[in-house]
Amino acid sequence: MDTNARPARYDVLFEPVRIGPKLAKNRFYQVPHCNGGGYRDPSAVAEMRRTKAEGGWGVIFTEQTEIHQTSEITPFIEQRLWDDREIPALARMADAMKSHGALAGIQLAYSGINGPNLYSREVPLAVTGGPILTFTADPVQARTVDRDDIRNIRRWFCNAVRRARTAGFDLVCLYGAHGFGIFQHFLSRATNQRGDEYGGSLDNRSRFVREVIAELREETRDEMAITLRLSLHEEGTLGLSNAELREFIALNADLPDLWDLAHGTWENCSGTSRFVGEGAQEDLVAGIKALTPKPVVGVGRFTSADAMVRQVRQGILDFIGAARPSIADPFLPRKIEEGRFDDIRECIGCNICVSGDMTGAISRCTQNTAFMEEWRKGWHPERARPKGPSESVLIVGAGPTGLEAALQLGKRGYRVALAEATTTLGGRVERERQLPGLSAWGRVADFRTGQIAPMANVETYLDSRLTADEVLDMGFEHVAIATGSTWRRDVVARLHLAPIPTDPAMPLFTPDDVMAGGGPVGGRVLLYDDDHFYMGSVIAEVLAARGCRVAFITPATKVAEWTENTLEQGVIMRRLLSLGIDVVPSKAPEVIGAGEVTLGCTWTGARTSVPAEAVVLVTSRTPNDALYLELRERDWAAAGIQSLKVIGDAAAPGPIAWATYAGRRYAEELDAPDIGDALPFRRELAELAP
Ligand code: ADP
Ligand code: SF4
Repeated sequence: MDTNARPARYDVLFEPVRIGPKLAKNRFYQVPHCNGGGYRDPSAVAEMRRTKAEGGWGVIFTEQTEIHQTSEITPFIEQRLWDDREIPALARMADAMKSHGALAGIQLAYSGINGPNLYSREVPLAVTGGPILTFTADPVQARTVDRDDIRNIRRWFCNAVRRARTAGFDLVCLYGAHGFGIFQHFLSRATNQRGDEYGGSLDNRSRFVREVIAELREETRDEMAITLRLSLHEEGTLGLSNAELREFIALNADLPDLWDLAHGTWENCSGTSRFVGEGAQEDLVAGIKALTPKPVVGVGRFTSADAMVRQVRQGILDFIGAARPSIADPFLPRKIEEGRFDDIRECIGCNICVSGDMTGAISRCTQNTAFMEEWRKGWHPERARPKGPSESVLIVGAGPTGLEAALQLGKRGYRVALAEATTTLGGRVERERQLPGLSAWGRVADFRTGQIAPMANVETYLDSRLTADEVLDMGFEHVAIATGSTWRRDVVARLHLAPIPTDPAMPLFTPDDVMAGGGPVGGRVLLYDDDHFYMGSVIAEVLAARGCRVAFITPATKVAEWTENTLEQGVIMRRLLSLGIDVVPSKAPEVIGAGEVTLGCTWTGARTSVPAEAVVLVTSRTPNDALYLELRERDWAAAGIQSLKVIGDAAAPGPIAWATYAGRRYAEELDAPDIGDALPFRRELAELAP
């Protein structure tokens, strides 16, 4: 490593910092984060954490770990430490975390009012009983814990810590943030309405965490550090405010070995880049360090080394906490250490990673295509597998798919030509980055174009709209068609599977028109969203800014329904209402007339008419596969082409993360043996009991 490449002002990030009995080698702290794999995919998760160790993180944590069957959060898949049989899987993870000198941490959670126990069927136990507070509004209530229960929960924490120690962890994190952990539930008057010695005054509400930590000190035997993760601020008159949190920390300054602070709810804490910038929690955390001699870690989607250094220099944070930036680039610390700033793969703040957890699928990352495929497929965030026997590849289309394919093939050592019809690289992200709030999405293109530029074996050709004849004449051994997709100019998507009667006198527009600067300016506009992700609401914002009176029509019961999975649905709804957009759920166009649209209620079919001067359709996309289909019919083998593939949006339109994944997969599998019907990834199955 050439340390000279790093300007001295970043050295502070590489100072060792003590956490109780342990010494972290630097200030890079991967805070606990979910990954949608959890206990179902133990080796996949362990290998993912190993890449962070390799990438230079000083501290690496697991996701939340359920300590007892009376508090579990099915359908979300995290870790479990319910009995000793779960130790080996976590030991594998601790081992991977420590493989390059990082400290291994485990986050312990008792979910209380947040755990519906759908799997274990135990009666949920909460500080104060009441309906379970989850994303899924389960029709389940929790019972209020009594003194025996409290004693039991303390014992369960001790059991979990004993198991964690056996598994080899250095640190435990007691989860009391994001509304998810019982420590927060005791501290906050919103969830603690008890009249006994555990409720009422802040001192009483603090009793539980003090008791737990006192008992854990016996269990950790001064070999493990104890950290406490708390919310920086809860909304509402009853919630634990930032002021009260500061009071708590001042009164209990020495309680944990480290304070891990994260904003409010998960939605607050993990806002997308559309709504929240880098380092957004600074005001809430500034000044807390002065209240305690213990180190403080905070988060803020930090990807800029300068922002990190400033937070440390100004005494705001001791550790730079990161979940998403560590997912997008597990090698972030090493790249800063080596002064390789241009190589940093910056998180774009899209929360696709979160959606993997929310849907119980395994997480993916738009930027780091290897995320959660490190063990399953043997992909690595930095390293490429050796080149196969063939030499040359032509990629048609330089969107996220084509760019990722070109980058990965270039790293493998192939001779790559990337042909792009327009005069810019980036495809859809080049257009979408111009939309309000989506500028960070341009990083998908910027990172890849930056990496490809110095590669002698990758040539890009702009302004080159290739025809089938040209492709056949170019003499490449492999051809990948990554020509993207086009938004449909009709209602066909999920609700309507066929077009509806439409008067040609009504101007119809698509997101592509609006992104190209076209579409309505002023006047009454009906926007129909049967896509349910971000695009409808973003286009509505553009139209509102152009002075249009927008009616946002959706057949769903709420706007941008799928953005529940990216933690954005509530903030999108607030944004639309604040812009004066008329939100009309449970309706869809049935007839598009000249000057008006007939809407049908999706439940009763009852019809109403609304006047409109233009209609914007955010429905579904058609693959741009004409070139591929034409080539498929030609004798491409005679032209010396060994394989012809269609990939990314041109095969099946999806989110940007699906496109980068498709590009990566194409590059990884080029020249690989044909595996026929075999499963293309590894997985672990539960063993049958004897
Ligand atoms: P994806 O998300 O799959 O990468 P995009 O729509 O973002 O798809 O990108 C597709 C890119 O392909 C666009 O930049 C488009 O200009 C380009 N393209 C489409 N047809 C051709 C063609 N015949 N030759 C070269 N480039 C093309
Ligand atoms: Fe960042 Fe998006 Fe990757 Fe999550 S999926 S780490 S938000 S780039």
